[in-house]
Amino acid sequence: MERIGIFGGTFDPIHLGHMAAAQQAAEALKLSRVWFIPSGNPPHKRKARITPAGLRYQMVRRALSGNPLFRAADLELRTSGASYTIDSLEAIRTRHPAAELCLLMGLDQAATLSSWKDPERIFRICRVVVLSRPGFEVSQIEPCWRRRVEFLPIRLLEISASDIRNRVRRGLSIKYLVPAGIEEIITRQGLYLASVSQNNGKGEKGLNENERKSR
Ligand code: ATP
Repeated sequence: MERIGIFGGTFDPIHLGHMAAAQQAAEALKLSRVWFIPSGNPPHKRKARITPAGLRYQMVRRALSGNPLFRAADLELRTSGASYTIDSLEAIRTRHPAAELCLLMGLDQAATLSSWKDPERIFRICRVVVLSRPGFEVSQIEPCWRRRVEFLPIRLLEISASDIRNRVRRGLSIKYLVPAGIEEIITRQGLYLASVSQNNGKGEKGLNENERKSR
């Protein structure tokens, strides 16, 4: 049976933590491929803080080229409003009715599951696989979801997109933190140079309540 991994995120920018996590999940779960699904453009208020979806998608495509296991999907880029994980999953389910779907997410994301759109339906149509992430504990997942997810311990890589953005802003190198070609796109497009940290005023991991609700 075909088994597809689905890995959604802002990917602003994609980094080696994402790639290594997806690779390990693919091996452990025997996935035939992993779809990386960058979230769409955020609604009006958040536009200034998040890189336009087209550019984030371009970085994802560049990063994944050369790995036949990995694919970039523009599913959420085609909707103008908030994009929800359940809608993407249902679109993939329609296209691949016989496949087993495995939704991959880091521990930090699993801790926000209650605020996602229709988590019950998510659990009905796919396996939810939670990957370990530095700084986050299983106990942060609400018990009702903790019982239903599958945990996959992976090698911990302390890399986050918010740290990368902050490094760029401070003029520090991001070599060995992002895949080949990504630093070049960031430099060419002048990304993450704003003097205000993109994390300002936000909670843990730089996600505000609206962003949590748009998964
Ligand atoms: P930010 O720092 O801006 O919050 P991020 O690094 O968490 O960004 P996202 O695009 O939000 O990146 O993450 C997409 C998915 O990848 C999420 O499920 C997240 O938990 C997971 N992820 C990101 N970095 C890692 C990592 N180093 N190890 C394991 N999983 C990760």
